[in-house]
Amino acid sequence: MSIEAVKKIGFKTLGCRLNQFETDALASKFVNHGFKVVEDSKNTDVFIVNTCTITNQSDQKSRYAINQAIKKGHEGMLIITGCMANHHKEALEAQYPNAYVIDNNLKSSIPELVSAHFNKEIIPSGQMTGGVFNFDPASETFHTRSMVKIQDGCDNFCTYCIIPRVRGRAVSRPVNDILENIQQVVAFGYKEVVITGVNISRYNDNGLNFSQLIRKIVELPIEFRLRISSIEPDGFDDDFFEALKHPKVTPHLHLCLQSGSEQILLQMRRMYTLKAYKAIVEKVRSFNPLFNITSDVIVGFPGESEADFQDSLDAVTELKFGHVHTFKYSKREETRAARMTSVVPEKVKTNRSKQLREVADLAKLNYRKQFIGLQQTVLVESMDEDGWAKGYGEHYVPVKFKSDTAQKNTFHVIHIEDIDTSQEDEPVLIGKLA
Ligand code: SF4
Repeated sequence: MSIEAVKKIGFKTLGCRLNQFETDALASKFVNHGFKVVEDSKNTDVFIVNTCTITNQSDQKSRYAINQAIKKGHEGMLIITGCMANHHKEALEAQYPNAYVIDNNLKSSIPELVSAHFNKEIIPSGQMTGGVFNFDPASETFHTRSMVKIQDGCDNFCTYCIIPRVRGRAVSRPVNDILENIQQVVAFGYKEVVITGVNISRYNDNGLNFSQLIRKIVELPIEFRLRISSIEPDGFDDDFFEALKHPKVTPHLHLCLQSGSEQILLQMRRMYTLKAYKAIVEKVRSFNPLFNITSDVIVGFPGESEADFQDSLDAVTELKFGHVHTFKYSKREETRAARMTSVVPEKVKTNRSKQLREVADLAKLNYRKQFIGLQQTVLVESMDEDGWAKGYGEHYVPVKFKSDTAQKNTFHVIHIEDIDTSQEDEPVLIGKLA
């Protein structure tokens, strides 16, 4: 059977936007080879689980996704890839002997593997082309926004993080490939581009740094808006702050804080102090007071005292975060933090996590309320039966408005009038066409 004869493929993606980009790129490639992407794993010829391993919970969720595919009766080719495939390769191969377990750096060659499988051939992994940037621009994706990968890997070795071991050292995609990719996805019809990677602020293509890359991207003579994905608060120069002022760059950064305690940041081996972090936020908000800063905070890192935790709570309020992902510290073997002995009991972690979420939800509500009376340019992602169009404004805050005519992937300028707080942890701005 040739690859073209195989029709149905399903995906389950866990983890970050980088993984989502890689799934999108693979799905698009399979569609170009005549595959149909379907939701239900039961009736697929190929099912790909693109796993995440950043926490123990991510491992559990990834395993659950694999088991669900098997339980639902998936009988075709099962492929397990993503960071967990690197981190727990042998265990996964032993547990799922009929599955293909494919490393991240060979993920881009999965279509070759599938083709060979249906031709009753086997490609040894040493003969797969692979390559962490060897993905085509995705024309069909699972998202309204198009993700574009600019970088992979990390050289930081934060003491709690397994990612440098599973994604390898930092590598940057050549600038011309990135510019070409963006031009292609905009030509496909995407109106918003999200640049993504593991540690994108360390982008460096033969001396061309992150700020210079942003400058080149926004100078492309095409219409789109640019979103900078998750970024480390480290290595910013004045050019970066200048680039953020460009009208194509959306006023939102997911700036990873991890802790509000200086001593915990040191123990984590983060590359900045809380003071430096605050200076970045201040600078950004000096030219745009509503600039949305969202973040990640870990609670219960080894040695985190009540006072350290209070510092995190204070930082969330003081920095007026638009959203916080709260993580309970989870021990990853093979990291330095795994050898730290002053472990915070699970019950304390759970309690701190709950407290932090409450403080973060209040900060989020207060942040979002500031938009009442203002305008947002909303990229519509969905319409429901009651006539509500939903999407995100440039600040990456969800907005809904009534419209009979709005369509997915179109921009609308919306005057914000109210806020819907029925979903406590996700208040949505309500507006009408301006
Ligand atoms: S910066 Fe730190 S937390 Fe982020 S991927 Fe690198 S090692 Fe992990």
